[in-house]
Amino acid sequence: MSRVLIIGAGGVSTVTVKKCARLPEYFDEIYLASRTVSKCEALQKEVGADRVKAVFAVDADNAGEVESLINEVKPDLVINLALPYQDLPIMDACLATGTDYLDTANYEPKDEAKFEYKWQWAYQDKFKDAGIMALLGSGFDPGVTNVFTAYAAKHYFDEIHYLDIVDCNGGDHGQAFATNFNPEINIREITQRGKFYEDGQWKETDPLSVREDLDYQNIGVRPSYLMYHEELESIVKHIPGIKRARFWMTFGEAYLNHLRVLEGIGMTSIEPVEFQGQKIVPLEFLKAVLPNPGSLAEGYTGMTCIGTYITGVKDGKEKTIFIYNNCDHAKTNEEVGAQAVSYTTGVPAMIGAKLMLDGTWKKPGVWNMEQFDPDPFMEELGKHGLPWHVIECDQSPFSK
Ligand code: NDP
Repeated sequence: MSRVLIIGAGGVSTVTVKKCARLPEYFDEIYLASRTVSKCEALQKEVGADRVKAVFAVDADNAGEVESLINEVKPDLVINLALPYQDLPIMDACLATGTDYLDTANYEPKDEAKFEYKWQWAYQDKFKDAGIMALLGSGFDPGVTNVFTAYAAKHYFDEIHYLDIVDCNGGDHGQAFATNFNPEINIREITQRGKFYEDGQWKETDPLSVREDLDYQNIGVRPSYLMYHEELESIVKHIPGIKRARFWMTFGEAYLNHLRVLEGIGMTSIEPVEFQGQKIVPLEFLKAVLPNPGSLAEGYTGMTCIGTYITGVKDGKEKTIFIYNNCDHAKTNEEVGAQAVSYTTGVPAMIGAKLMLDGTWKKPGVWNMEQFDPDPFMEELGKHGLPWHVIECDQSPFSK
């Protein structure tokens, strides 16, 4: 008998709620809370009140409110699918109530676009002492990409030297400009300076200034840009021997042109400005006028390809492998009414939760995905709609 409280009712949550609802043997009772309760009600109506037992309005920026809600629901696990800003208040509420915690994105202060684990890692001893667990970053990237790396380290290499995580969305949603997950978080992420790890140091690049044209399985060649992504920090810390770790994401010319214009006129700024007698944050306003990522699913064609290129040594010989998943927007829409970016995040959140609830991944403290045995997670991925493949490459596809 297990009970989960899911916080957030956006694109990712929609997928996780629907996937959890199909597994009553692991998720007996699902409770759903978010800032806008009508979104929870709509999801409950779709999934059924027999599976989503009750819905609540909560402001998860307020740890006290979350604590009261946890005391009312008494869940075994809180699945945080709100925004990175809410990670710490929700972790505080979990600590106060002795409840396990899971999220898909690391904490970021609202007034500073800074993706770092230091704030959440600082809870390690407190969670351990309380005998509760936090699983950080159980989405696709971070999440599955961490597990892919741990899987390669376990089964394919004696030592991993070079890691390149690649994230390609080869889909077409037909909109002039839209982001595939929360626009505010997405734009904060891609407009920051690039950063990668090499020879024990973090090196910076200008935003989206380093490009490789990579050939993605079942998609084709796409321009891919080096950027910083949070899983690099934890993987480099937890997988020994890595000499270089980078992250690449594909962007089309039209997308980049829109972004350049929006940046050029200050619309992506997180500095508040005075507008008609009140302070507004330009990026928050931009989010309000952009399409809701959850609404992109209808008519979205094409697929994503996200994976990890890994070069290392096995039995004294150097080799490169690519572990990846393709996910088709139209198929995920048909299955759960969501596009592939929400799907590839929402499914791993459900899997991480399932492994915690059944005790497969369970130890007190605060952990990243690569710190657990990857095999059970990899097994679940294929079963729940995210099949993966391993290719042995003749050589690394990167020119530098
Ligand atoms: P959405 O914007 O679609 O959904 C976010 C939800 O959180 C909304 O329902 C929103 O409520 C709710 N929310 C926001 N603030 C609060 C608050 N203070 N209290 C309670 N609820 C709140 O985002 P996505 O579903 O696209 O993304 C969800 C998370 O998944 C994000 O953290 C994102 O970074 C992460 N993610 C991770 C990925 C990975 O691979 N690891 C990939 C993609 C996303 P309201 O409706 O009122 O705005």
